[in-house]
Amino acid sequence: MTSAGDDGVSRRLRSLPSVERVVRALGPDAPPPPIATAVARLAVDRARARVRAGESLSFEEIESDAARLLETRSRARLSKIINATGVLIHTNLGRSPLGEVQMKAVRRVASGYSNLEYDIDAGRRGSRYAHARAPLVALTGAQSALVVNNCAAALLLTLKGLCQDREVIISRGELVEIGGEFRIPDVLSASGARLKEIGTTNRTHLIDYERAIGPETGAILKVHPSNYKMLGFTAAVEARALARLARGRGVLFINDLGSGLINSPPRARWLEREPTVEAAVADGADIVTFSGDKLLGGPQAGMIVGRSELIDALARHPLLRALRVDKMTLAALEATFEILLRGTLDELPLWRMATASLESLEGRARALAGRLAPLTDQGVKIEAIASRAVTGGGSLPGEDIGSWAVALVHPERSVDELERALRTGDGPVIARIEDDRLLIDLRAVAPADDDALAASVLAALSL
Ligand SMILES: *Cc1c(COP(=O)(O)O)cnc(C)c1O
Repeated sequence: MTSAGDDGVSRRLRSLPSVERVVRALGPDAPPPPIATAVARLAVDRARARVRAGESLSFEEIESDAARLLETRSRARLSKIINATGVLIHTNLGRSPLGEVQMKAVRRVASGYSNLEYDIDAGRRGSRYAHARAPLVALTGAQSALVVNNCAAALLLTLKGLCQDREVIISRGELVEIGGEFRIPDVLSASGARLKEIGTTNRTHLIDYERAIGPETGAILKVHPSNYKMLGFTAAVEARALARLARGRGVLFINDLGSGLINSPPRARWLEREPTVEAAVADGADIVTFSGDKLLGGPQAGMIVGRSELIDALARHPLLRALRVDKMTLAALEATFEILLRGTLDELPLWRMATASLESLEGRARALAGRLAPLTDQGVKIEAIASRAVTGGGSLPGEDIGSWAVALVHPERSVDELERALRTGDGPVIARIEDDRLLIDLRAVAPADDDALAASVLAALSL
């Protein structure tokens, strides 16, 4: 005998909509069938579980649950967001944005066939690595250059190709983790080189390096402390002194710069303490490695520049095949190098944003505050304020860049709720929380996105 209650549950279970009906209800804008079906099935399954738990649900409730699931799903797709965090090179948000000149180069090369590995003059196979070599040599003053997938790959290939089964000397102050999953000691061990730590976390002297060099030593590695800054009683050895020591003792000196600043005017004051690639080369490093999508303002890539015979050896290494760059990257990179060679830095979005004047940022912040004025009807406090941005992405730790932001405070909703509303709205905006206010920092927002930014914030916070 089943109870009347169980009867009710069975009846409600039987009357749950079919997956197909929920798919149809999702409408013409729903994603392609396998995705729409999976979402609808999940919504029906969830409804079934709730009915079993004694609830009763209308079709509309199931339909809106499916629509919500779909929304979460489409947010997970790779898509454009507005970076209002004030962090210019934000690793989680895709680091350096590419500009029109770079994108044109990508479209030109990627939408058809290209001479990626073809020597047009000779009419036979060429090298994909040849394209970036000449501009990199011209920009950095190095003898030769090789481009791989990212700077971690550049370092891995360098250590594997030049230091496998040998000791690599590194200061304890530089055994760092960069960007969560990239740790210098792990890259070293993956390369088959043996780590020889010297000095202490805060102080390492030239004598520590001198004493550590022995018959097993392959190289001295210097890692630019790009995502942290040590203050107080500290000491590190200059690249030039390490290069001299390494040369005198017949070992290599590898300088992993990461941030990849190539110096062409005009540069901002906050960049003064950042080492440039040319300086690292001129200081005598055998190899310098750096990223393409940090201060270089280009696509994700890893540059290895240095002495010709070393670069040639790395170019012959079988691991290179696994770390090779794609044609789209090479096209964007080539365009980036040409911009740097011409000195037309305004063609790089990163540099446009990095060097935008405080006056222009203030004007945009005030204009945005004005456009958000309708929110004051709900009691939202809106104020254009001076703010501090940072480069991020492992460059210039501790160096603030002046900026302007719009600060929001809601009479009822917490700052976390506001942050979430902007993040999960249509046209997501990632903002920053500071002193219990939500800051929409304009330093890393392209002026062309100001309209979309205003619309997104209004939509997300209007009742
Ligand atoms: C960022 C960084 C890397 C890693 O660069 P990716 O291009 O992200 O692989 C390596 N070394 C240093 C010093 C860095 O700052």
